[in-house]
Amino acid sequence: MQVSDAHQRLIDLGRRSYAPNYRPRDVVFESGCGSELFDVDDRRYLDFGSGIGVNCLGHRHPAIVRTLQSQANRLWHASNVYFHSEAVNLSTRLIDETVAEAVYFCNSGAEANEAAIKVARRWGSERDGQQKHVIITLHGSFHGRTLGALTATAQTKYQVGFGPLLDGFRYCRFDDLDDLEANFSNDVCALMFEPVQGESGVRPLSNEFVVRAAELCEFHDALLIVDEIQCGMGRTGKLFGYQRHAGVVPDIITVAKALGAGLPIGAALLGEKTANVLQPGSHGTTFGGNPLCCAVASTVLNELLVNGLIDEIPNKGALLANGLEAINQHTRAFSEIRAIGLMIGAQLTGHYAGRAGEILLRCLDEGLLVLQSGDNVLRLLPAYTISEAQIHEGLELLSNALVRSSDSPKHKRPATN
Ligand code: PLP
Repeated sequence: MQVSDAHQRLIDLGRRSYAPNYRPRDVVFESGCGSELFDVDDRRYLDFGSGIGVNCLGHRHPAIVRTLQSQANRLWHASNVYFHSEAVNLSTRLIDETVAEAVYFCNSGAEANEAAIKVARRWGSERDGQQKHVIITLHGSFHGRTLGALTATAQTKYQVGFGPLLDGFRYCRFDDLDDLEANFSNDVCALMFEPVQGESGVRPLSNEFVVRAAELCEFHDALLIVDEIQCGMGRTGKLFGYQRHAGVVPDIITVAKALGAGLPIGAALLGEKTANVLQPGSHGTTFGGNPLCCAVASTVLNELLVNGLIDEIPNKGALLANGLEAINQHTRAFSEIRAIGLMIGAQLTGHYAGRAGEILLRCLDEGLLVLQSGDNVLRLLPAYTISEAQIHEGLELLSNALVRSSDSPKHKRPATN
């Protein structure tokens, strides 16, 4: 892709000045509007990734711009030493919409999970002493990069070189009830899972697993923690992914990403058993419940639930999934298309297997932003506000990228995330 000298200079500066933990592609974005982004050369891109599932209302949504402007003229930060109306309004709202009875605010998904882990540990020790501290998580999970959340993330590729990790975590096979039952015991204080695993390729847990897992938590007197950081806030067509499973009542729901639609906010929504575990001084973070972020999150909930955006998600998801099936008729690129609302994973096969990174770059060339989950899955997490015309356009660009990729020999693989 040809870029201007000024564009290239920014890329070079970024490469020199950023820590190399990310691997940004060769594009510098300047502005966005809805599901479109523009680079510094004013080239347009259609956004099917929404900043890894964050910009759920697209870029520069007018309601969010209004909220930010009005809040910027009132209050940005006051600290948790005091109340302020934005955090009060948001926590009350989250309690009204869920099984939560109290809310802990933080700034990211990893922090929300850290809070959940600490709540579970303290709850366990109050319940049955220090021995009740084990947390079960599932293979393929992704819960974040801080040490607690990283230990919960049952994937060695993220953990290598960061040991020793925390004690007291037990990993079970994905969607495997026998393995879960075998690993449950009375020293378990919590089971934590994503109702739909995101980073490992959009993999939904079965209804049977989720329902039985909740029963096992009851039976063994353990908490059920659902990590809704990627699949929550409407992504699957329900406000939270666990709500796809009738009768399941989590004890802690962790949220981030789409909650702030682009502003950094996370939260642990605490149910009846856990609402009072974090007593004064036990946990906290300076920016948690920041007024700007809370005001925006309330606007997101309004757009979803009052203005009905959440109702559009199933149809848009089906349109996108059907379009992928149609592409598959002529490319034979996918062995499986997993679509849960607007959370979509397309499993690459044959010539395309292992080439997600290369296809992502070809999509970028075509002016389409997609995500990958490892080398074998293309992941699509578009904004809920995306139009049908944009879905059709993006599918055409993706089809072009796949056709171009089919012409290239299978040799060196571009690096992946
Ligand atoms: N949990 C899930 C399911 C996620 O997908 C992510 C991020 O991708 C996290 C936790 C960590 O969130 P953050 O990157 O905001 O710390």
